[in-house]
Amino acid sequence: MIRVTTFAGQTVAVFGLGGSGLATARALMAGGATVVAWDDGEAGRRAATEAGLPVGDLREMDWSQFAALVLAPGVPLTHPEPHWTVVKAKAAGVEVIGDVELFCRERAKAVPGIGLACPLIAITGTNGKSTTTALITHILKTAGFDVQMGGNIGTPILELEPPVVRETIGERRFHVIEVSTFQIDLAPSLKPTFGVLLNLTPDHIDRHGTFANYAAIKERMIAASHFAIIGVDDETCRHIYGREAIRRGGDANDQIPTGISGVKSVDPGIGVVGTQVGTSRNREFRSLVGLAGVGALRGAHNAQNVAAALAATMPMLSMRAFSEDAANANANLEALLLKAITTFPGLPHRMEEIGRVGRVLFINDSKATNADSTEKALSAFDRDIYWIVGGKAKEGGIAALAPYFPRVARAYLIGEAKHDFAATLKDKVEISCCGTLENAVAAAAKDAAVSSGAEPVVLLSPACASYDQFKNFEERGNTFRNAVAALDGVVLKGAAG
Ligand code: ADP
Repeated sequence: MIRVTTFAGQTVAVFGLGGSGLATARALMAGGATVVAWDDGEAGRRAATEAGLPVGDLREMDWSQFAALVLAPGVPLTHPEPHWTVVKAKAAGVEVIGDVELFCRERAKAVPGIGLACPLIAITGTNGKSTTTALITHILKTAGFDVQMGGNIGTPILELEPPVVRETIGERRFHVIEVSTFQIDLAPSLKPTFGVLLNLTPDHIDRHGTFANYAAIKERMIAASHFAIIGVDDETCRHIYGREAIRRGGDANDQIPTGISGVKSVDPGIGVVGTQVGTSRNREFRSLVGLAGVGALRGAHNAQNVAAALAATMPMLSMRAFSEDAANANANLEALLLKAITTFPGLPHRMEEIGRVGRVLFINDSKATNADSTEKALSAFDRDIYWIVGGKAKEGGIAALAPYFPRVARAYLIGEAKHDFAATLKDKVEISCCGTLENAVAAAAKDAAVSSGAEPVVLLSPACASYDQFKNFEERGNTFRNAVAALDGVVLKGAAG
């Protein structure tokens, strides 16, 4: 755990008592602050009481006593309207920050300058944050570094081990954190050593008012990053790249941003030629790693995540490779990257390979809760897709996926959306109305088994929310996994063979 000492001797209000809120209260108290914790929900207050944290009704308190309000990232700061705690804090002149800000202030005390002695890698973007964060962590761990991963993924940031300065490169501790726009908004002193912005598409507009506001918050983190890594596959990010290149170009101390792409080569930057991801400079492409046959990183979207992960790790990996064995540095580096990429297990429910029955591959992409995400899954396979789709439909349904319908051998419809989706697919794709996921797996497995394709794929990529039939996308994905595991002759990924 990180002891937050920057509020020692002061009183801090902590609102929002999920995992990160509880960790925040503990970290502040461990550093010598007095905490008043509160949540609008009974469950959060009970969790705090059970954890021995001081719970107090912030509605009744004199706010002039607080040095800060630490807000959980799920609580509205600005839109659709500021939460009542924010209104009270503003009226009393109390600053409103998040747990990432507390981490950054603590880190600034421990780590001088841009922090190369204890690098902070922060990853944001509309999609791919978790995958890229996990991949960067995996690459660094494969290289033997001490890596602390958290933030919006897994462990709350204040539960990680603290930043420490270590001069020897191989002993360095990295903090690799996934940050949502909400967290950036609450962290004015977030200045990553490496800042990664993967992509931007309209999302969470309800919480940020407009797409422009949402993009501006992400851009702020990139502008504050020492090394800026920016996706150039969408227009909004390309503009951000352009502005950063101009802003940094004239200053010798600053760095030219690294452009990254999952679909083309980027010069200068890290991009893709065929199935190779590599660097390009002066029109010369140098492959760093190949993605052919890497099951956990299928599709152009994952190539973008790989390009980002390489951009964020290469400077330190190269420095170390050269310091250890200059003559063989490049070969050693490439061998390390190959090992890291081919052993990356991927994240559950995101294009997760569950197993095979004979030639038939089973993929769990339950996290794909909208058509945009499912498009990524469909585009990863050229043909013979036995597609399980449906649930609680989002606006627009699956009409936007029409260009991919020719790749689908048959669609298996589940959940509330089945009638609407049947209408969209009519005369374009063969369908089976299955109702439940279990029925769909059984039917798709049977059909795929008699397909003549070299590698037919049974793909759960629902393009829908799950809550008409499941608690969440995880439960839906687990149901899929269990149904596949029960099939005759199945060989599960990671099992023998
Ligand atoms: P996030 O943490 O940003 O939600 P994840 O890594 O959990 O992202 O991936 C969620 C879904 O987003 C995946 O199932 C996939 O469909 C899609 N996705 C992953 N990476 C990318 C990317 N680089 N660009 C676009 N979509 C992506």
